[in-house]
Amino acid sequence: MTMQADLVVMGGGPAGTISAWLAAQDGRRVILIDPDRAPSRIEGLSPRLQNWLHRAGLLPHASVPLVRVPRRSLWAGTAYEGNHELLVSRPDLDRHLRDCAREAGATVVLDTATPAPGGARMGSGGCVEAPLVLDARGRRAAGRDGTRRGPPTVAMGVWLDGPAETPPQTLIVPLDDGWVWFACMGSGRAWAQVTLNAADPDKAPPPKRVARALADCTEQLPGFRPSGDATVARECSPVLSPVPDDLSVLPVGDAAAAMDPLSGHGMFWAVSSAIAAAAVRRTLTADTDGSGRSLAGRFLGQRTEDVFLRQARIGRDFIRAETARASLPFWKARAAFPDDEPAHPTVPAITTRRQVVVKDGRLTELEVLISPRSPGGVGWFHDLPAADLWRAHAKGEDAVRLAQRFGPAAARFPTWLAEEATPG
Ligand SMILES: Cc1cc2nc3c(=O)[nH]c(=O)nc-3n(C[C@H](O)[C@H](O)[C@H](O)COP(=O)(O)OP(=O)(O)OC[C@H]3O[C@@H](n4cnc5c(N)ncnc54)[C@H](O)[C@@H]3O)c2cc1C
Repeated sequence: MTMQADLVVMGGGPAGTISAWLAAQDGRRVILIDPDRAPSRIEGLSPRLQNWLHRAGLLPHASVPLVRVPRRSLWAGTAYEGNHELLVSRPDLDRHLRDCAREAGATVVLDTATPAPGGARMGSGGCVEAPLVLDARGRRAAGRDGTRRGPPTVAMGVWLDGPAETPPQTLIVPLDDGWVWFACMGSGRAWAQVTLNAADPDKAPPPKRVARALADCTEQLPGFRPSGDATVARECSPVLSPVPDDLSVLPVGDAAAAMDPLSGHGMFWAVSSAIAAAAVRRTLTADTDGSGRSLAGRFLGQRTEDVFLRQARIGRDFIRAETARASLPFWKARAAFPDDEPAHPTVPAITTRRQVVVKDGRLTELEVLISPRSPGGVGWFHDLPAADLWRAHAKGEDAVRLAQRFGPAAARFPTWLAEEATPG
Protein backbone atom coordinates (compact mmCIF):
# COMPACT_ATOMS: atom_id res chain seq x y z
CA MET A 1 0.00 0.00 0.00
CA THR A 2 1.27 3.49 -0.85
CA MET A 3 0.14 6.47 1.21
CA GLN A 4 0.55 10.12 0.29
CA ALA A 5 1.52 12.87 2.71
CA ASP A 6 3.11 16.31 2.88
CA LEU A 7 5.50 15.03 5.53
CA VAL A 8 6.55 11.64 6.86
CA VAL A 9 8.16 11.44 10.28
CA MET A 10 10.13 8.28 11.05
CA GLY A 11 10.33 7.77 14.83
CA GLY A 12 7.89 8.74 17.56
CA GLY A 13 10.14 9.89 20.43
CA PRO A 14 10.02 13.56 21.56
CA ALA A 15 11.61 14.88 18.34
CA GLY A 16 9.30 12.94 16.02
CA THR A 17 6.06 13.43 17.96
CA ILE A 18 6.55 17.19 18.37
CA SER A 19 7.53 17.48 14.67
CA ALA A 20 4.33 15.64 13.69
CA TRP A 21 2.23 17.69 16.14
CA LEU A 22 3.62 20.98 14.76
CA ALA A 23 3.03 19.90 11.14
CA ALA A 24 -0.53 18.78 11.93
CA GLN A 25 -1.16 22.12 13.66
CA ASP A 26 -0.01 23.78 10.42
CA GLY A 27 -2.65 21.79 8.57
CA ARG A 28 -0.14 19.53 6.78
CA ARG A 29 -0.93 15.89 5.98
CA VAL A 30 1.57 14.14 8.22
CA ILE A 31 2.29 10.46 8.80
CA LEU A 32 4.22 9.50 11.93
CA ILE A 33 5.71 6.00 11.96
CA ASP A 34 6.94 4.30 15.13
CA PRO A 35 6.96 0.65 16.21
CA ASP A 36 6.18 1.52 19.88
CA ARG A 37 8.87 -0.86 21.08
CA ALA A 38 10.80 1.48 23.42
CA PRO A 39 12.00 -0.41 26.52
CA SER A 40 10.60 0.41 29.95
CA ARG A 41 12.71 3.10 31.61
CA ILE A 42 12.57 6.27 33.66
CA GLU A 43 13.92 9.65 32.52
CA GLY A 44 13.84 13.13 33.97
CA LEU A 45 11.97 16.03 32.35
CA SER A 46 14.11 19.13 32.78
CA PRO A 47 12.32 22.31 33.98
CA ARG A 48 12.84 23.93 30.55
CA LEU A 49 11.01 21.08 28.82
CA GLN A 50 8.27 21.00 31.46
CA ASN A 51 7.64 24.70 30.84
CA TRP A 52 7.54 24.27 27.08
CA LEU A 53 5.17 21.28 27.23
CA HIS A 54 2.99 23.14 29.72
CA ARG A 55 2.78 26.24 27.51
CA ALA A 56 1.99 24.08 24.47
CA GLY A 57 -0.74 22.26 26.40
CA LEU A 58 1.12 18.95 26.00
CA LEU A 59 2.23 18.22 29.57
CA PRO A 60 0.51 14.98 30.58
CA HIS A 61 -1.77 15.20 33.58
CA ALA A 62 -3.57 12.21 35.03
CA SER A 63 -2.75 9.88 32.12
CA VAL A 64 1.01 9.68 32.82
CA PRO A 65 2.30 9.95 36.40
CA LEU A 66 4.96 12.65 36.83
CA VAL A 67 6.98 12.47 40.06
CA ARG A 68 8.66 15.74 41.10
CA VAL A 69 11.85 14.98 43.04
CA PRO A 70 14.89 16.89 44.33
CA ARG A 71 18.06 16.31 42.33
CA ARG A 72 21.26 15.42 44.24
CA SER A 73 24.71 15.04 42.78
CA LEU A 74 28.07 13.88 44.14
CA TRP A 75 29.91 15.18 41.09
CA ALA A 76 33.33 16.87 41.25
CA GLY A 77 33.91 15.87 44.85
CA THR A 78 31.04 17.92 46.29
CA ALA A 79 27.54 16.98 47.35
CA TYR A 80 25.18 19.28 45.45
CA GLU A 81 21.50 19.59 46.15
CA GLY A 82 19.74 22.15 44.04
CA ASN A 83 16.99 21.97 41.50
CA HIS A 84 14.24 19.46 40.89
CA GLU A 85 13.33 17.18 38.02
CA LEU A 86 10.15 15.47 37.00
CA LEU A 87 10.48 11.69 36.67
CA VAL A 88 8.44 10.04 33.98
CA SER A 89 8.12 6.65 32.32
CA ARG A 90 9.53 7.30 28.84
CA PRO A 91 7.37 4.81 26.91
CA ASP A 92 4.28 6.35 28.56
CA LEU A 93 5.38 9.91 27.78
CA ASP A 94 6.11 9.01 24.15
CA ARG A 95 2.70 7.34 23.79
CA HIS A 96 1.03 10.42 25.28
CA LEU A 97 2.85 12.71 22.81
CA ARG A 98 1.93 10.41 19.91
CA ASP A 99 -1.71 10.66 21.05
CA CYS A 100 -1.37 14.48 21.05
CA ALA A 101 -0.01 14.36 17.47
CA ARG A 102 -2.91 12.10 16.46
CA GLU A 103 -5.47 14.41 18.09
CA ALA A 104 -3.93 17.34 16.18
CA GLY A 105 -4.57 15.46 12.92
CA ALA A 106 -1.46 13.34 12.28
CA THR A 107 -1.85 9.75 11.12
CA VAL A 108 0.14 7.50 13.44
CA VAL A 109 1.29 4.18 11.99
CA LEU A 110 2.66 1.36 14.13
CA ASP A 111 5.64 0.20 12.07
CA THR A 112 9.30 0.80 11.33
CA ALA A 113 10.49 2.92 8.41
CA THR A 114 13.60 3.76 6.42
CA PRO A 115 14.13 6.62 3.97
CA ALA A 116 13.39 5.71 0.35
CA PRO A 117 13.45 7.81 -2.83
CA GLY A 118 10.50 10.22 -2.65
CA GLY A 119 9.49 9.26 0.91
CA ALA A 120 9.86 6.29 3.24
CA ARG A 121 9.47 2.54 3.12
CA MET A 122 7.84 0.73 6.01
CA GLY A 123 9.09 -2.49 7.56
CA SER A 124 5.79 -4.19 6.78
CA GLY A 125 6.23 -3.40 3.08
CA GLY A 126 4.10 -0.26 2.56
CA CYS A 127 5.40 3.09 1.31
CA VAL A 128 4.71 6.72 2.05
CA GLU A 129 5.29 9.26 -0.71
CA ALA A 130 6.12 12.68 0.69
CA PRO A 131 8.28 15.60 -0.45
CA LEU A 132 9.89 15.80 3.00
CA VAL A 133 11.03 13.11 5.44
CA LEU A 134 12.08 13.82 9.02
CA ASP A 135 14.39 11.17 10.39
CA ALA A 136 13.64 11.07 14.12
CA ARG A 137 14.72 7.48 14.72
CA GLY A 138 17.07 8.53 17.52
CA ARG A 139 20.75 8.07 18.14
CA ARG A 140 21.08 4.90 16.13
CA ALA A 141 19.78 6.58 12.98
CA ALA A 142 22.79 8.86 12.82
CA GLY A 143 25.16 7.05 10.49
CA ARG A 144 25.81 9.21 7.45
CA ASP A 145 29.30 9.88 6.12
CA GLY A 146 31.12 12.39 8.29
CA THR A 147 29.30 11.43 11.52
CA ARG A 148 31.50 11.97 14.58
CA ARG A 149 31.07 9.57 17.47
CA GLY A 150 32.36 9.86 21.02
CA PRO A 151 33.87 6.98 22.98
CA PRO A 152 31.60 3.90 22.72
CA THR A 153 29.36 4.10 25.78
CA VAL A 154 26.48 2.01 27.08
CA ALA A 155 23.81 2.77 29.70
CA MET A 156 22.32 -0.18 31.53
CA GLY A 157 19.11 0.34 33.43
CA VAL A 158 17.54 -1.84 36.12
CA TRP A 159 14.68 -1.56 38.57
CA LEU A 160 15.73 -1.77 42.21
CA ASP A 161 13.75 -2.67 45.32
CA GLY A 162 14.69 -1.14 48.66
CA PRO A 163 13.50 0.49 51.88
CA ALA A 164 10.01 1.96 51.47
CA GLU A 165 10.93 4.97 53.63
CA THR A 166 13.67 6.25 51.23
CA PRO A 167 12.36 9.62 49.98
CA PRO A 168 11.82 10.18 46.26
CA GLN A 169 14.93 11.78 44.74
CA THR A 170 17.48 11.51 41.96
CA LEU A 171 21.15 11.05 42.70
CA ILE A 172 24.22 11.08 40.43
CA VAL A 173 27.26 9.14 41.63
CA PRO A 174 30.55 9.14 39.68
CA LEU A 175 32.51 5.87 39.69
CA ASP A 176 36.05 5.06 38.53
CA ASP A 177 34.76 3.43 35.35
CA GLY A 178 31.53 5.37 34.75
CA TRP A 179 28.66 6.88 36.69
CA VAL A 180 25.24 5.95 38.08
CA TRP A 181 21.93 7.84 38.04
CA PHE A 182 19.43 6.70 40.66
CA ALA A 183 15.83 7.73 40.33
CA CYS A 184 14.03 6.80 43.51
CA MET A 185 10.27 6.92 42.96
CA GLY A 186 9.28 6.35 46.62
CA SER A 187 7.57 3.24 48.08
CA GLY A 188 10.85 1.31 47.91
CA ARG A 189 11.12 1.41 44.10
CA ALA A 190 14.09 2.96 42.23
CA TRP A 191 15.49 2.97 38.71
CA ALA A 192 19.28 2.80 38.38
CA GLN A 193 21.06 3.71 35.17
CA VAL A 194 24.71 2.72 35.02
CA THR A 195 26.78 4.39 32.29
CA LEU A 196 29.98 2.55 31.36
CA ASN A 197 32.42 1.90 28.52
CA ALA A 198 30.62 -0.18 25.89
CA ALA A 199 33.43 -2.74 25.96
CA ASP A 200 34.18 -4.60 29.16
CA PRO A 201 37.65 -6.20 29.45
CA ASP A 202 36.11 -9.12 31.39
CA LYS A 203 33.27 -9.49 28.83
CA ALA A 204 30.84 -9.68 31.77
CA PRO A 205 27.10 -9.82 30.90
CA PRO A 206 25.06 -6.63 31.59
CA PRO A 207 23.49 -7.79 34.93
CA LYS A 208 26.96 -8.59 36.29
CA ARG A 209 28.33 -5.20 35.18
CA VAL A 210 25.38 -3.44 36.80
CA ALA A 211 25.80 -5.42 40.03
CA ARG A 212 29.51 -4.49 40.10
CA ALA A 213 28.75 -0.79 39.66
CA LEU A 214 25.96 -0.80 42.26
CA ALA A 215 28.27 -2.52 44.74
CA ASP A 216 30.45 0.61 44.53
CA CYS A 217 27.63 2.87 45.70
CA THR A 218 25.77 0.97 48.41
CA GLU A 219 26.61 3.80 50.82
CA GLN A 220 24.63 6.30 48.74
CA LEU A 221 21.40 4.30 48.44
CA PRO A 222 21.56 1.74 51.24
CA GLY A 223 19.40 -1.34 51.05
CA PHE A 224 18.54 -1.16 47.31
CA ARG A 225 19.00 -4.32 45.21
CA PRO A 226 18.13 -5.26 41.58
CA SER A 227 14.50 -6.39 41.48
CA GLY A 228 15.20 -9.26 39.09
CA ASP A 229 13.55 -7.53 36.10
CA ALA A 230 15.53 -7.60 32.84
CA THR A 231 18.45 -5.19 32.44
CA VAL A 232 17.83 -2.63 29.66
CA ALA A 233 21.07 -1.84 27.80
CA ARG A 234 21.11 1.23 25.53
CA GLU A 235 23.88 2.65 23.43
CA CYS A 236 24.57 6.21 24.54
CA SER A 237 27.80 7.33 22.85
CA PRO A 238 27.64 11.00 21.83
CA VAL A 239 26.96 11.38 18.10
CA LEU A 240 27.37 14.51 15.94
CA SER A 241 25.91 14.19 12.44
CA PRO A 242 27.16 16.34 9.56
CA VAL A 243 24.98 18.98 7.92
CA PRO A 244 22.51 17.14 5.66
CA ASP A 245 23.23 17.73 1.99
CA ASP A 246 19.86 16.29 0.90
CA LEU A 247 17.21 18.66 2.24
CA SER A 248 14.43 16.16 1.53
CA VAL A 249 15.53 13.94 4.45
CA LEU A 250 16.29 15.97 7.58
CA PRO A 251 17.61 14.40 10.78
CA VAL A 252 15.91 15.74 13.89
CA GLY A 253 16.55 15.16 17.62
CA ASP A 254 19.14 12.55 18.54
CA ALA A 255 19.39 11.54 14.88
CA ALA A 256 21.02 14.95 14.30
CA ALA A 257 23.03 15.27 17.52
CA ALA A 258 22.92 13.00 20.56
CA MET A 259 24.74 13.80 23.77
CA ASP A 260 25.90 11.90 26.80
CA PRO A 261 22.81 11.35 29.03
CA LEU A 262 24.66 13.19 31.81
CA SER A 263 23.14 16.56 30.94
CA GLY A 264 19.55 15.44 31.56
CA HIS A 265 18.48 17.83 28.78
CA GLY A 266 18.35 15.35 25.87
CA MET A 267 14.56 15.48 25.54
CA PHE A 268 14.57 19.29 25.68
CA TRP A 269 17.11 19.42 22.85
CA ALA A 270 15.08 16.88 20.86
CA VAL A 271 12.03 19.14 21.13
CA SER A 272 14.08 22.23 20.34
CA SER A 273 15.38 20.39 17.26
CA ALA A 274 11.77 19.63 16.23
CA ILE A 275 10.87 23.33 16.52
CA ALA A 276 13.90 24.28 14.39
CA ALA A 277 12.98 21.59 11.84
CA ALA A 278 9.42 22.99 11.64
CA ALA A 279 10.87 26.40 10.68
CA VAL A 280 12.97 24.68 7.99
CA ARG A 281 9.92 22.76 6.74
CA ARG A 282 7.74 25.89 6.51
CA THR A 283 10.52 27.79 4.73
CA LEU A 284 11.12 24.99 2.21
CA THR A 285 7.38 24.61 1.58
CA ALA A 286 7.01 28.33 0.80
CA ASP A 287 10.18 28.44 -1.33
CA THR A 288 9.58 29.52 -4.92
CA ASP A 289 12.97 30.81 -6.04
CA GLY A 290 15.56 28.72 -4.17
CA SER A 291 16.22 31.41 -1.53
CA GLY A 292 14.44 29.32 1.12
CA ARG A 293 16.65 26.35 0.28
CA SER A 294 19.73 28.50 0.68
CA LEU A 295 18.50 29.84 4.06
CA ALA A 296 17.72 26.28 5.21
CA GLY A 297 21.20 25.03 4.27
CA ARG A 298 22.88 27.91 6.10
CA PHE A 299 20.63 27.52 9.15
CA LEU A 300 21.35 23.80 9.47
CA GLY A 301 25.08 24.52 9.10
CA GLN A 302 24.91 27.15 11.86
CA ARG A 303 23.10 24.72 14.17
CA THR A 304 25.72 22.05 13.61
CA GLU A 305 28.53 24.48 14.42
CA ASP A 306 26.96 26.66 17.10
CA VAL A 307 24.44 24.44 18.89
CA PHE A 308 25.51 20.80 18.54
CA LEU A 309 29.23 21.32 18.97
CA ARG A 310 28.65 23.64 21.91
CA GLN A 311 26.40 21.05 23.60
CA ALA A 312 29.06 18.37 23.12
CA ARG A 313 31.75 20.67 24.56
CA ILE A 314 29.58 21.55 27.56
CA GLY A 315 29.18 17.79 28.20
CA ARG A 316 32.96 17.36 27.89
CA ASP A 317 33.54 20.15 30.43
CA PHE A 318 31.17 18.45 32.86
CA ILE A 319 33.27 15.29 32.54
CA ARG A 320 36.44 17.36 33.06
CA ALA A 321 34.98 18.77 36.29
CA GLU A 322 35.38 15.29 37.83
CA THR A 323 39.07 16.12 38.29
CA ALA A 324 39.87 13.42 40.87
CA ARG A 325 39.30 10.77 38.16
CA ALA A 326 40.84 12.68 35.23
CA SER A 327 43.61 10.13 34.66
CA LEU A 328 41.32 7.07 34.62
CA PRO A 329 40.61 5.63 31.12
CA PHE A 330 36.81 6.19 31.15
CA TRP A 331 37.19 9.85 32.10
CA LYS A 332 40.27 10.57 29.99
CA ALA A 333 38.60 9.34 26.78
CA ARG A 334 35.44 11.41 27.36
CA ALA A 335 37.35 14.53 28.37
CA ALA A 336 38.80 14.61 24.84
CA PHE A 337 35.53 14.53 22.82
CA PRO A 338 34.69 16.36 20.61
CA ASP A 339 37.88 18.47 20.78
CA ASP A 340 39.77 20.90 22.97
CA GLU A 341 38.01 24.10 21.88
CA PRO A 342 36.24 26.19 24.54
CA ALA A 343 32.47 25.54 24.84
CA HIS A 344 31.81 29.26 24.61
CA PRO A 345 33.96 31.09 22.06
CA THR A 346 35.71 34.19 23.34
CA VAL A 347 34.14 37.39 22.04
CA PRO A 348 36.35 40.37 22.97
CA ALA A 349 33.73 43.07 22.31
CA ILE A 350 30.11 43.49 21.31
CA THR A 351 29.59 43.41 17.57
CA THR A 352 26.98 42.30 15.01
CA ARG A 353 26.80 39.76 12.20
CA ARG A 354 24.19 38.54 9.72
CA GLN A 355 22.75 35.18 10.63
CA VAL A 356 19.81 32.96 9.72
CA VAL A 357 17.25 33.02 12.55
CA VAL A 358 13.71 31.77 13.17
CA LYS A 359 11.15 34.57 13.03
CA ASP A 360 7.42 33.89 13.28
CA GLY A 361 8.15 30.19 12.76
CA ARG A 362 10.10 30.67 9.48
CA LEU A 363 13.73 31.24 8.58
CA THR A 364 14.95 34.70 7.77
CA GLU A 365 18.28 36.49 7.67
CA LEU A 366 18.81 39.05 10.40
CA GLU A 367 21.60 41.15 11.84
CA VAL A 368 22.17 39.78 15.34
CA LEU A 369 24.14 41.09 18.29
CA ILE A 370 27.23 39.06 19.23
CA SER A 371 28.40 39.63 22.79
CA PRO A 372 30.84 38.02 25.25
CA ARG A 373 27.81 36.60 27.10
CA SER A 374 25.89 35.48 23.98
CA PRO A 375 28.47 34.45 21.36
CA GLY A 376 25.76 32.54 19.45
CA GLY A 377 23.96 35.81 18.70
CA VAL A 378 20.87 37.61 20.01
CA GLY A 379 18.22 38.60 17.46
CA TRP A 380 15.68 40.32 19.67
CA PHE A 381 15.47 42.12 22.95
CA HIS A 382 11.82 41.76 24.06
CA ASP A 383 10.68 41.42 20.42
CA LEU A 384 12.73 44.48 19.41
CA PRO A 385 15.65 44.13 16.96
CA ALA A 386 18.69 43.90 19.26
CA ALA A 387 21.20 45.14 16.64
CA ASP A 388 19.13 48.29 15.94
CA LEU A 389 18.86 49.05 19.65
CA TRP A 390 22.60 48.57 20.08
CA ARG A 391 23.40 50.93 17.20
CA ALA A 392 21.05 53.61 18.52
CA HIS A 393 22.50 53.27 22.00
CA ALA A 394 26.07 53.44 20.64
CA LYS A 395 25.12 56.76 18.99
CA GLY A 396 24.19 58.15 22.40
CA GLU A 397 20.49 57.35 22.79
CA ASP A 398 19.83 56.75 26.47
CA ALA A 399 17.07 54.64 28.07
CA VAL A 400 14.48 57.42 27.72
CA ARG A 401 15.20 58.07 24.02
CA LEU A 402 15.28 54.34 23.25
CA ALA A 403 11.89 53.90 24.93
CA GLN A 404 10.44 56.83 22.96
CA ARG A 405 11.66 55.41 19.65
CA PHE A 406 11.26 51.63 20.12
CA GLY A 407 8.67 51.30 22.93
CA PRO A 408 8.74 50.97 26.74
CA ALA A 409 10.69 47.65 26.84
CA ALA A 410 13.68 49.37 25.20
CA ALA A 411 14.27 51.38 28.41
CA ARG A 412 15.83 48.24 29.93
CA PHE A 413 18.22 47.72 27.01
CA PRO A 414 21.24 49.68 28.40
CA THR A 415 21.22 47.68 31.67
CA TRP A 416 20.92 44.39 29.78
CA LEU A 417 23.70 45.43 27.37
CA ALA A 418 26.09 46.13 30.28
CA GLU A 419 25.52 42.56 31.50
CA GLU A 420 26.08 41.17 28.00
CA ALA A 421 29.58 42.68 27.98
CA THR A 422 30.85 40.09 30.47
CA PRO A 423 30.94 36.34 29.75
CA GLY A 424 28.14 34.45 31.56
C1 LIG B 1 20.44 6.05 29.03
C2 LIG B 1 19.87 7.38 28.67
C3 LIG B 1 19.28 8.16 29.65
C4 LIG B 1 18.76 9.41 29.32
N1 LIG B 1 18.18 10.18 30.30
C5 LIG B 1 17.61 11.35 29.97
C6 LIG B 1 16.92 12.14 30.95
O1 LIG B 1 16.82 11.76 32.12
N2 LIG B 1 16.36 13.31 30.55
C7 LIG B 1 16.43 13.75 29.25
O2 LIG B 1 15.90 14.82 28.94
N3 LIG B 1 17.08 13.03 28.31
C8 LIG B 1 17.67 11.86 28.63
N4 LIG B 1 18.30 11.11 27.69
C9 LIG B 1 18.34 11.61 26.33
C10 LIG B 1 16.99 11.41 25.64
O3 LIG B 1 16.54 10.09 25.87
C11 LIG B 1 17.13 11.65 24.15
O4 LIG B 1 17.91 12.79 23.90
C12 LIG B 1 15.76 11.83 23.51
O5 LIG B 1 14.94 10.73 23.75
C13 LIG B 1 15.92 12.01 22.00
O6 LIG B 1 14.65 12.05 21.43
P1 LIG B 1 14.45 11.59 19.91
O7 LIG B 1 13.01 11.73 19.66
O8 LIG B 1 15.42 12.29 19.06
O9 LIG B 1 14.89 10.06 19.88
P2 LIG B 1 14.34 8.82 20.70
O10 LIG B 1 13.71 9.24 21.96
O11 LIG B 1 15.46 7.86 20.73
O12 LIG B 1 13.16 8.26 19.78
C14 LIG B 1 13.41 7.54 18.63
C15 LIG B 1 12.13 6.82 18.25
O13 LIG B 1 12.33 6.23 16.98
C16 LIG B 1 11.76 4.96 16.98
N5 LIG B 1 12.43 4.18 15.94
C17 LIG B 1 13.64 3.59 15.95
N6 LIG B 1 13.88 3.00 14.78
C18 LIG B 1 12.79 3.24 14.01
C19 LIG B 1 12.45 2.93 12.68
N7 LIG B 1 13.27 2.22 11.89
N8 LIG B 1 11.27 3.35 12.20
C20 LIG B 1 10.42 4.09 12.95
N9 LIG B 1 10.69 4.41 14.23
C21 LIG B 1 11.87 4.00 14.74
C22 LIG B 1 11.97 4.43 18.39
O14 LIG B 1 11.00 3.44 18.68
C23 LIG B 1 11.77 5.71 19.21
O15 LIG B 1 10.41 5.83 19.61
C24 LIG B 1 18.85 9.87 28.00
C25 LIG B 1 19.45 9.07 27.02
C26 LIG B 1 19.95 7.84 27.34
C27 LIG B 1 20.61 7.01 26.27
